[in-house]
Amino acid sequence: MQKGVTLWFTGLSGAGKTTVCLEVGRLLKLRGLKVELLDGDKMREQLNAGLGFSKDDRRKNVATAAYVARLLTRNGVIVLASFVSPYKSMRESARASIGSFAEVYVRCPLEECARRDVKGLYKKAFSGEIQHFTGVSDPFEDPEFPELVLYTDQETINQSAARVMEYLKTNGFIG
Ligand code: ADP
Repeated sequence: MQKGVTLWFTGLSGAGKTTVCLEVGRLLKLRGLKVELLDGDKMREQLNAGLGFSKDDRRKNVATAAYVARLLTRNGVIVLASFVSPYKSMRESARASIGSFAEVYVRCPLEECARRDVKGLYKKAFSGEIQHFTGVSDPFEDPEFPELVLYTDQETINQSAARVMEYLKTNGFIG
């Protein structure tokens, strides 16, 4: 059995949102459950092509994602949404519009994210080649009351994914 819910993964670039979502998605699919992944980068390539990283464009990107997540969630799908979504107000709007929602703070120190530098973006952000980069030249507002916090500098990917699965079970979203 499953109940629709959106797990909203927020955190710095390179914190591990996509990686953990992929693993949780794999585990849910193994159980034959309906799951969909929404990803900030993919959103910007598809539905939101042309949006930049100003506060207003970030708001639009998150709002579009929240709308899609709402449609899926109300049809019983488990949505794993991976968005830097640095502003508290935008995450709270997503929560209000989706209803069945849990905020998962993928917490990793900036220094570790920059060390991983998965996409080579921190190097460019520190040199000034890229502007408005979250954590470097743009703010990240820490979640105040996230339902779950993953410490990806201290846990393995499997441990983080297992904690998400446990959350879904404990809260009755999966059997
Ligand atoms: P984001 O989606 O938050 O930008 P990614 O998932 O693309 O981040 O990148 C995170 C990187 O950190 C990956 O290379 C991943 O293998 C690595 N990593 C190391 N430990 C962990 C962990 N415990 N959880 C998630 N990612 C981890």
